[in-house]
Amino acid sequence: MQKINLKSNTLEELESVIISFGEKKYRAVQLFHVIHKQNIDTIKDIAVLPKILRNELAQKYFIGSLRVEKRFDSQLDGTKKYLFRLHDDHLIESVLMKYKHGYSACLSTQVGCRMGCLFCASTKGGLVRDLTAGEIADQVYQMQKDSSVRISNIVLMGSGEPLENYENVIKFLSIIHNEHGQNMGYRHITLSTVGIPDKIRQLADEALQITLSISLHAPDDELRKQIVPVARKYSIQSILDACKYYLEKTHRRITFEYALIQNLNDAEEQARQFAGLLKGLLCHVNLIPMNSIKESNLRPTSQKQVQKFHDVLESKGINVTIRRELGGDINAACGQLRRDYYKDS
Ligand code: SF4
Repeated sequence: MQKINLKSNTLEELESVIISFGEKKYRAVQLFHVIHKQNIDTIKDIAVLPKILRNELAQKYFIGSLRVEKRFDSQLDGTKKYLFRLHDDHLIESVLMKYKHGYSACLSTQVGCRMGCLFCASTKGGLVRDLTAGEIADQVYQMQKDSSVRISNIVLMGSGEPLENYENVIKFLSIIHNEHGQNMGYRHITLSTVGIPDKIRQLADEALQITLSISLHAPDDELRKQIVPVARKYSIQSILDACKYYLEKTHRRITFEYALIQNLNDAEEQARQFAGLLKGLLCHVNLIPMNSIKESNLRPTSQKQVQKFHDVLESKGINVTIRRELGGDINAACGQLRRDYYKDS
């Protein structure tokens, strides 16, 4: 019989497990606390539970943990990039970033990705599999443990499209938010997506107060199809309509990500077009000077041009920032580390 990983269970699911053993509900709270706050990963070591319950649990369940395969420390700004090995030997990446206000973690939600974004190394080998809720959460726990820090912000912006792994991501959000575990406020969590309109609406209906970040990267559908191939299925207008619905339901300002690529989407006219799209929408634009990846000939926009693009948006009344590059010396481009590691090992 294949054992089930308790780390992927929400508190409500743990209650069902505990009740199935004829125990009282409060035991589930104890179990949840031990797994998600104290980071204990052996059922036998959970001293707070009666020995007989531990033995019964251990016959059907286990508490899975990621293994730190490698860690890369930036000498420039304290950013740490982790390569984690999963129980089935696949590798994923996560990043720990230090800001003035605390530590922020960028997490993966899938092994690989099938979205095919032009500038992204994570997608070059396609999608391997979805991560479970426990595997997403454990990236936080293992980085906290390894670096002896407390993570106060999370961005689901690593490998994978979170809305393609919807159920596990929603379970992860419930787990990480729960007061008996990490107790992280939803407002400290950002979900980044290429924009899948029906899933954005579904997420809006969950009314979770997380920040939604849309990777738009182009001001028109034709260009977007080249940069983000999933755009063949979803027009910019259908994504913006779903964003308006998200806004209505949550009253949360939407972020739009725009990776600037030299001579492709970085002209001032394109900035004007982009500003036109966002007119009247409660939003923020994050301009990302693209990271070069070995597998592509695309080049980052010059700093001067990034500034010009920024200034056009600002002159049109758009709230806009240029993302600071972190971990420039440790190959922080999405998915690059994992690919290099596979090649070298
Ligand atoms: S940028 Fe994100 S959505 Fe696009 S291919 Fe990479 S991991 Fe997937």
